Amino acid sequence: MNPLDCIFCKIAAGEIPSDRVYEDEFVLAFRDIHPQAPVHALVVPKKHMKNLLECDDGTAVAVLNAVKAVAKSEGVSESGFRAVTNCGPDGAQSVEHLHFHVLGGAQLSGRMG
Ligand code: AMP
Repeated sequence: MNPLDCIFCKIAAGEIPSDRVYEDEFVLAFRDIHPQAPVHALVVPKKHMKNLLECDDGTAVAVLNAVKAVAKSEGVSESGFRAVTNCGPDGAQSVEHLHFHVLGGAQLSGRMG
């Protein structure tokens, strides 16, 4: 995919509005437009990469640190949360720009698939 056509690249560039909850040099986090839990944020690298398979070591560290920061700032680090990334068609990835979902704020289902 051309990054110019990528919705999360456009959000990172400020071309599409988002409800931002975290930002640093490498990573942005914003609320999911269709939340599946009381807390549902998406943590995305600013650099375009399709999914986890294209993620370099530095980005992996930056994204996971941002997941922790979002869990704390959204108030779910003590109560618990889920961080998950969908990868490819069978993984139900619908946006082809790496993102971690951070879900919490209620008891989540134990089902993972
Ligand atoms: P996935 O299915 O894992 O690729 O997740 C993509 C997520 O992006 C879904 O939960 C969507 O609700 C969310 N999403 C799509 N467009 C936007 C947007 N413009 N702002 C916020 N979240 C979005």
